Amino acid sequence: MELGIAGRWAVVCAASKGLGKGCARALAMEGVNLVINARSKEALDATAQELRELDADIEVHAVAGDIGSEAVRTAVLSACPRVDILINNNGGPPPGDFRDWSRNDWHAAVEANMITPIELIKATVDRMAVNGFGRVVNITSGAVKAPIDILGLSNGARSGLTGFVAGLARQPQLAGNNVTINNLLPGAFDTERLQSTLKSTAKNTNQDLEQVREERAQGIPARRFGSADEFGAFCAFLCSIHAGYLTGQNILLDGGSYPGTF
Ligand code: NAP
Repeated sequence: MELGIAGRWAVVCAASKGLGKGCARALAMEGVNLVINARSKEALDATAQELRELDADIEVHAVAGDIGSEAVRTAVLSACPRVDILINNNGGPPPGDFRDWSRNDWHAAVEANMITPIELIKATVDRMAVNGFGRVVNITSGAVKAPIDILGLSNGARSGLTGFVAGLARQPQLAGNNVTINNLLPGAFDTERLQSTLKSTAKNTNQDLEQVREERAQGIPARRFGSADEFGAFCAFLCSIHAGYLTGQNILLDGGSYPGTF
């Protein structure tokens, strides 16, 4: 299927590794020009080079820094001549027990996983509407739909973003001008973040890492973890010309883990 987005410009946040990189790769393979971001310059530059090698005709700019910083967001947006596609992503808040979390912990989570994407949406969607094309995809988490106790900071902050987006996506000045805003909810994907979660489970339970990995994978109906490339391919479809009638949705990619009908 031709996705019809070659020559468009996309900003992909938190994209040097994992799911963000999967999205950037899929968009690059569709001929989309990219501005990518992550904190570590070395890994980001290596990813930028890898993306350029996927399509010699695209431009790829790398802007290093914490996407939670206003100055970094400004630099990211300034590096993009026209934002047609915005992929919001960021590191997730740490796990823990809510009894141990301070106001500062809550503020940091809400800042990173709710306010940061909202600020980027605010800076881009009205121009998308004027241009008659815009796609925003927020990478959130399966925990928005099926909360995980120890991920309370994530459950809370991401649910705030989800509620906000549900209203915004339905504004006629956006939906009526071919600007869509959707959330992609990953289940378990085989990224560095998952690997470090499995490592700490293995350490805490005194088990072999491979055994922990296998047991976790076998607990998923698909009997495997998702890959960043398949996540990216789905994201690229959401950004395509074919997905203009899909907005304000929360789409779970979890290999069947969520047990409900809806
Ligand atoms: P990952 O493999 O650890 O990759 C995270 C990426 O984000 C890296 O490129 C990292 O680069 C960048 N990053 C982190 N903090 C950043 C910041 N403050 N500013 C800019 N870039 C930043 O993680 P992932 O598995 O792809 O997860 C991506 C998101 O999906 C996270 O929010 C995670 O909680 C969520 N999620 C993942 C899964 C899963 O199974 N993988 C499941 C549910 C939800 P630097 O460190 O160099 O900045």
